[in-house]
Amino acid sequence: MTDRYAVAGNPVAHSRSPAIHQQFAQQTGQALDYGRLLCPLDAFKATLQAFADGGARGCNITVPFKFEAFEMATRRTPRAALAQAANTLRFDAQADGGWLADNTDGVGLVRDITVNAGVALSGQRVLLLGAGGASAGVLGPLIEARPAEIVLANRSLDKAQALVDRHADWAAEHGVRLTARALDNAGQAYDVFINGTAASLSGSGVPVGPGVLRPGTLALDMMYGPAAQPFLHWAHEHHAVARDGLGMLVEQAAESFALWRGIRPDTAPVLAALRAQIDTPSPLQNKNPV
Ligand code: NDP
Repeated sequence: MTDRYAVAGNPVAHSRSPAIHQQFAQQTGQALDYGRLLCPLDAFKATLQAFADGGARGCNITVPFKFEAFEMATRRTPRAALAQAANTLRFDAQADGGWLADNTDGVGLVRDITVNAGVALSGQRVLLLGAGGASAGVLGPLIEARPAEIVLANRSLDKAQALVDRHADWAAEHGVRLTARALDNAGQAYDVFINGTAASLSGSGVPVGPGVLRPGTLALDMMYGPAAQPFLHWAHEHHAVARDGLGMLVEQAAESFALWRGIRPDTAPVLAALRAQIDTPSPLQNKNPV
């Protein structure tokens, strides 16, 4: 039987992960099948358990189930443990049948910013919006990149504060000033602005004012495809360098693939092919297509 994987979430129809993993499989000569698993909001765990019981080898987890997925694993990588959220599960890693949880979102985001976009994070002022599964996953790796400051702003301030508290030692160890703020007090003129909220996904607009930008700020929305367009236009209008989440998506997928299959695919051709399919040009992407 072909090894089976999927991306589990709600919604999940927009996900490009199946196309990405099929390209990775072709590139590395691996035989696998990767689909989409739409999970009812009140039955995520049962749906995922049935998928694993049916012989699947692993899955990616997307909005809004990363915390629940983390809880279902019996072993966690250190970066997943810091995030307390998982975007990758491996069902076949342990002899006792327990699941391994990892979180590859952060390493994917940092790689997209520093390698694909060529923007250094070290010494910079960074605003990260959102305190859901995605932001939980990226905060630790962002800290490791040693910016001068990270402000974490969220609609529910208590969630941002909890995330900041959990990362306080990690931030101190890396010399990073880390604070939580409300959205209406998010601060001004950052070097890097990352939208890790689900606002673009739900079409509700950019949840902060343009004062968070200065000319040349890297403004990155983790969303991609048509739903990211309003954010990209907003950033462009305010003289920022706009970037969507496609590069992050491909980079985090490559890390998941490596965890499952023991081989890391080359991301550049896959990202270039996706970029050509999805018509989401942005100033930075035009300058540097991957
Ligand atoms: P969660 O559901 O776990 O968290 C959602 C977050 O967004 C919360 O902080 C929530 O605030 C906030 N939020 C939702 N709607 C609004 C709004 N209208 N205004 C302001 N804040 C809002 O989702 P995830 O963290 O898993 O995912 C977030 C986004 O990132 C999704 O769009 C997802 O597709 C994308 N993503 C992209 C990846 C990529 O590889 N490109 C990887 C991971 C995620 P509150 O806490 O107050 O509810």
